[in-house]
Order: sequence, then structure tokens, then C-alpha cells
Amino acid sequence: WIARDAAAVWHPFTQHATWTGDDPTVVDRAEGPWLWDVDGRRYLDGVSSLWTTTLGHGHPEVNAAIAAQLAKLDHSTFLGTTHTPGIELSEALVALAPRGDGPELTKVFYAGDGSSAVEAALKIAYQYSTQTGRARPKFVRLDHAYHGDTLGAVAVGGHELFHEAYRPLLLETIGVASPGDRANGADRCARAVADLTATMDAHGDQVCAIIVEPMMQGAAGMLDHDAHFLRTARALADAHGALLIFDEVATGIGRTGRMWAAEHAGVVPDLLTCGKGITGGYLPLSAVLAAEHVFAAFLSRPGDTSPRTFFHGHTYTANPLCCAAALANLRVMGEQDVVARAARLGDRLGKLLEPVAAKDGVVEVRRLGTMIGVEVAPAGDRTGFRVCQAARAHGVWLRPLGDTVVVMPPLTLGDDEADLLADALDAAIDEVLA
Ligand code: PMP
Repeated sequence: WIARDAAAVWHPFTQHATWTGDDPTVVDRAEGPWLWDVDGRRYLDGVSSLWTTTLGHGHPEVNAAIAAQLAKLDHSTFLGTTHTPGIELSEALVALAPRGDGPELTKVFYAGDGSSAVEAALKIAYQYSTQTGRARPKFVRLDHAYHGDTLGAVAVGGHELFHEAYRPLLLETIGVASPGDRANGADRCARAVADLTATMDAHGDQVCAIIVEPMMQGAAGMLDHDAHFLRTARALADAHGALLIFDEVATGIGRTGRMWAAEHAGVVPDLLTCGKGITGGYLPLSAVLAAEHVFAAFLSRPGDTSPRTFFHGHTYTANPLCCAAALANLRVMGEQDVVARAARLGDRLGKLLEPVAAKDGVVEVRRLGTMIGVEVAPAGDRTGFRVCQAARAHGVWLRPLGDTVVVMPPLTLGDDEADLLADALDAAIDEVLA
């Protein structure tokens, strides 16, 4: 399989075999928090198959919901027609939407993955500016941010490497200091607030939206920040007539111990993107939750000379199987109080990782709920990758982000499995840093 993979497959981001010198694991089947490879070896899925498997793999109720939907309606376009799973899921997401300082989120626009939800949100934000006043062509983004890999999403990311590769094709953005950036010292949040304030004072009338991954910038390297930054972003967006976008693709759907990370701050954005955990990893789906005032700007009015429509929508938008999977995932999460369980699991993992945090060579353990990053040193020496490699030999599947080892297990992980994960990481760090 590995030779055939190398011959025919172009993998996303990492050509594992060439870059790491490590063969990819050939995953064959999965159940609960476990993955098995084609040789029958079992691994604990410590990163929820890229942060998606809220309930673990193969949950019988989600499987049954997908099967029942498949027997009824596999696909039907959402362009001009509708269907019951799409309507029910929209109602469910609106009912779950965060409440607090900001508008009510009343409408759901579907997309296929996190990047395309972000792409849709950016296009909505720009077009909102043209349809409510005048064109505001700039976006404000945070340093180190990752919002996906489509061109708009790359532009609002904060990775120089990704910008460099595509620069002439990118949107106009203004980067501000990340409130989670340790390089900015202990007052990093205050510095980010000051930078955002100065940026909006200087360019606010040109800015259609500020985009932020709330409370914890995940793929940026698990960089946490305080609620004050989000409150400031809300106030500045309002003061300058810009929209506020929260990208909750990684932080949403219970991951941080609340349904949305926005709830930690009590701040509601105008647009909120979600993906990853929305179907619990079963099928690809994402969504943009939008405030009513944003949606209203896209409704044609009598006498309009051109239609006010959002020129965006894909063939598989709101695929019924995906919607059925998401509905089942959200139903089971509600019935089993999975968000509260995630908060408890996060606390437990935090305790279990205390000895890890105290080790020489561990810079810091950062955590919000079950979103955890273990930063290891020396930096830039592929230490993070080597720790994950060593953890794999102990039967735990992890994936690094640079020097940070990510721990983001299914929200329903059991106590014994949490112990196993922490023990494997502990041993792996000892082996690599010995
Ligand atoms: N936004 C955030 C915050 C993400 O973490 C990611 C994926 N890591 C994306 C967007 C892109 O999502 P996808 O990979 O599903 O396109």
C-alpha cells in the first residue's frame, strides 16, 4: 500500500515519505477513539482525525442516521430546492448559536469544509460592505492565524510561508499582533489590543471585517488569549462599521468545553464559521452562521436595479447525508451532555499533563477545554514531529504543529484512554529529549 500510495497519491500539505522520511500509516478501520492500520496495529486517535470526531468513530446512532438518510434521499441540490435535514440542521444550529454581546445569529449558510466556510464568510463580508454603503476592500487578521487553504482563507492567515507562495493572488489584509503570541511577552494581550485599536483607527473605514479564531488560535500553534481581546474586537468592529467574523472551525462544537469558544467571552460575532466537529467527522460539512442584519443586506427590494444575491454556492451544498450526520451528532451530544463532558475531560487531561509540563524541554502546555498544545524544545529541530513519532510507537496517534504537539481527542474519551494518552506522551517526550 505504501508503494502504491507513493506512486499515485498527492497528499495535502505533507508528502510524508519525502519530507519526514517516515512512511504514512495506512489506516484501515476505526471505532470509538481507536484506529487500526492494515497490519492490525491499534492506535488511540489523539487528534480526533484532524479535530473532527466529536463522539469517536462509528457511533451507532450517527451511523444509523446516515443509513436512514441514504435509504431516503442521498443528494438533492440546495440551489432553488430545499430538504428536511437541511432545514432541521439550520434550526438546530440557530438554537445552539452563542448569545451575548453582539447580534443574534439567525441564518445558516452551508459550505463543504472549513476553508470554504471561511471563503464564504469573507465574500459575504466584502459584499455586505458594498451593499450597505461603499466597498471596504480590506480584512484585518491576526499574526500566525490559520483559516484554511483557499485563496481568501490563505490571505487572512498569518503564515508568511503560505503568503509568499501566492502573494499576487491574495486579498488585501492587515495583520495585527496575535494576543496569543508569546514572542510579544507577558503583556501580549494588551499589545494586541493596542495594535488592533491603532489599526482600526488608521484603516477602519477601509476594513470590511476583522477575522479572529476566538480564545485559542489552533493551527497557529495552540495560542490562547483572553476574553478582553474579543470584547475589544467587537467594540472596534462596531465603532468602525466593520463586521466581526469568528472562525470556530476548530474551536466550535464543544471542543473548548463550551459549545462555542465565543461563549467564554460572551461575545457574538456577525458571522461565525464552523466545520470539523459539526458532523462528528462522519461526512464533510461546514456552515456560516450569520446575523439577521447581514442576511437582510442580500435580499432584493422592490425597485432594485440588480438582484442582491450572494454569488456563491456549491453543487454539494447542504448534502442531505451530511446534514443527517450533523443532526445525529448534535442530538447525541445534547442527550449525553457531551459539552460538559468535554470540559471535565479537558480538566482531567490538564491534570494528567502536569508532570509533562514540568519536564525539561517542555516549554509550555496550553489548554482550553480539550484543545491542548504541548510546546517542546529545542525549537525548529523537528522535536514536535519526533515526539509524535515516538508516541505512535506507544500506540497513540498525535500530530505536531511545528514545535507544538497537539492533543485533541474525541470529546467522549474515557478515563483509561486519557491515562494511556498522557502516559504515551510522557514516555515519548522522555525518549526524544533524553
Ligand atoms: N479554520 C480553522 C480555524 C482551522 O483550524 C481550519 C483547519 N485546520 C480551517 C479553517 C480549514 O478547515 P478545512 O481544513 O476543513 O478546510
